[in-house]
Amino acid sequence: MTRQWTRRQVLAQAGIAAAAVYTLDPHELCCSVNAYAQTASAEKFELKKVGDGIWAGIAEARYKVNSNAAVIETNDGLVIVDTHSKPSAARALYKDIQAVSKKPVRKIINTHFHWDHWQGNEVYASANPGLEIITTEQTKQNLTKADAGVGGVPFIEKQLATLPGEIAKLKEDIPKAPNAEAKARLESNLAQAEAYLQELRQIKPALPTRTVSKTLTLKEGGREIQLHVLGRGHTDGDLYIYMPKEKVVATGDAVVDWMPFLNDGYPEEWVQTLDALQKLDITHVIPGHGDPADRSHLTFFRGYMADLIAAVKKAAADGATLAEVKTKVADQLAPKYERGMSKYPLGRYRDRIGQNIEMVHKKVVAKS
Ligand SMILES: [Zn+2]
Ligand SMILES: [Zn+2]
Repeated sequence: MTRQWTRRQVLAQAGIAAAAVYTLDPHELCCSVNAYAQTASAEKFELKKVGDGIWAGIAEARYKVNSNAAVIETNDGLVIVDTHSKPSAARALYKDIQAVSKKPVRKIINTHFHWDHWQGNEVYASANPGLEIITTEQTKQNLTKADAGVGGVPFIEKQLATLPGEIAKLKEDIPKAPNAEAKARLESNLAQAEAYLQELRQIKPALPTRTVSKTLTLKEGGREIQLHVLGRGHTDGDLYIYMPKEKVVATGDAVVDWMPFLNDGYPEEWVQTLDALQKLDITHVIPGHGDPADRSHLTFFRGYMADLIAAVKKAAADGATLAEVKTKVADQLAPKYERGMSKYPLGRYRDRIGQNIEMVHKKVVAKS
């Protein structure tokens, strides 16, 4: 049974002061969006069938990004993986889901603690008494830890502290827009940022009620759903949701169809974890962001991570400064990865390669 707490109750329990002053560098924000990006004016998802009774809820680009969801139907109810960045997004997807199945939602699974994957939990909790919210033991801890990274209840406070500044900047930029189209995009993104701030103020965090430490097999109304903790990667608490009969896996951001976000990650272990994932018999991948993919995407994504680490290590060992490593490695990996990593308006190769290199430099080179 979930109990919905106010943000301040959760923070008080965790012994964290609510009014911490914090300045967010936009690069710190997983899935942050350029102010000029073209984004959808409403919370929108496309439900794509990936197996019998399994759908991917694919999020359209929004200024405050939403994660994808996986929707799994069983004989006695629905299991939903991830709930996006805001209750209004979860409500929009829930409406779409009800057009394909009227069954009650029995379980929510959160793949990791990042803001854009769990902040809509409360929608399902309030609509479905007795709802279970499942995640890894580590993610449960991260959700209330003060310094876990870009997610959790303390991070809601950080966003509340920084959003007014972000909104003021958008307002400042509008009169300076170079053309009508850019102005319209900025105005849409401003409206989205303002609406997000309003929602964030009202959030009642619905936190996990059950955890997985290694593996857990759910026999849900005749369907087998395996939950796997395979090692550290995108975060230290990533959970993989695998349906062995249908050969479908939902990965959260441990596999995305964008450029990955490494700030809360473990680059070298991530590659090993992806090797463990590839041992499962998988034909369809529901990634944390971007379209559903086939198994070959796992190889491509793993290849990027491994090549990135090797290239940064090599350039640093050859004596290049961080600035030189950035230019060199970005150009070196572009022929193999730029196209495949730039399919959407958000999270493209050139938007993120510099930050990816910097993170590998910090986490792999500098520490060795
Ligand atoms: Zn995400
Ligand atoms: Zn993430």
